[in-house]
Amino acid sequence: MTDRKKDLVDVHVHLLALPAPGNGCRISPRLKNGLLARALARLRGWPLDDADRFNRMYLERLLRDLAESERVGRAVILAMDGVYDDDGRLDEQKTDILISNTHCLEISHEHPCLLAGVSINPLRRDALDELDRCVQEGAALVKWLPNSQGFDPADPRCLPFYRALAARGMPLLSHIGYEFSLIGKDQSAGDLQRIRCALDEGVTVIAAHAASFGLFFHEPFWRLFTHYMKTYPNFHADVSALTLPNRAGMLWRLRSRPEFHGRLLFGTDYPLPVFSYPSLRTGSLRAWREAHACANPFDRHAGVLESVGIRADARVIRVSG
Ligand SMILES: [Zn+2]
Repeated sequence: MTDRKKDLVDVHVHLLALPAPGNGCRISPRLKNGLLARALARLRGWPLDDADRFNRMYLERLLRDLAESERVGRAVILAMDGVYDDDGRLDEQKTDILISNTHCLEISHEHPCLLAGVSINPLRRDALDELDRCVQEGAALVKWLPNSQGFDPADPRCLPFYRALAARGMPLLSHIGYEFSLIGKDQSAGDLQRIRCALDEGVTVIAAHAASFGLFFHEPFWRLFTHYMKTYPNFHADVSALTLPNRAGMLWRLRSRPEFHGRLLFGTDYPLPVFSYPSLRTGSLRAWREAHACANPFDRHAGVLESVGIRADARVIRVSG
């Protein structure tokens, strides 16, 4: 690595928080008691039965990792909206997790190195008002995960929301592809084709994980991804989680298309792990050793990307101040 400035912004960092008085967050017992949550808790030492302690621990660790990073100076922390019914009201039964915008914005106001990636289900009845509130409070982007939030991005009911996003210059970071980590989902909502109407409305769209499908080397969206890159200047992608074995196929495809690199945004998918093995494929044992020895997840991700020749530092998010 040559450039040691902390000039990268990580646009894909999950804000995890358990419900505590005043934070507006929710988690369903089936998710909290599920295998994934319990396994993660054991692995990371997370106290899932003590919300205040968990929330504090998670944030402190994130701030420490970010402070210790030599490459990444700021991170967009992502909220997570719930599922809404046909009247646009929160469907508590179908919502497995909700990380509130209020909590996300509050933390971003307290810590200038953290930017708010708010989450707004376009079917909620106050979607446009919530967008305005978040814009006024300095949100950097809107993130959604249609597979788990129970809507279809191609639904014409999303159009007013797309027009509002475009008019306010607010980027949309959308999960594309298969979603493993949450329950109660419609995987067809992650089809890259479904986000085309947002692009047609002029929204700056960031495809999470570079639209990698998430099922190992099968990448059904690659052709459409390259078509969008050529057709829509407002189409971007983040490179989060691309060192995971189930997404690494997209890493190699991106590597072969340097003309797309100017529209790639840096992202890790923190707190998911970052693997160093992709550096091996470059034939440089030294690059792999450097990445492997790097304990900081942000720097390791930056190092692996650099070693495979992928530049990802495009800036399209809203940053005030
Ligand atoms: Zn993610």
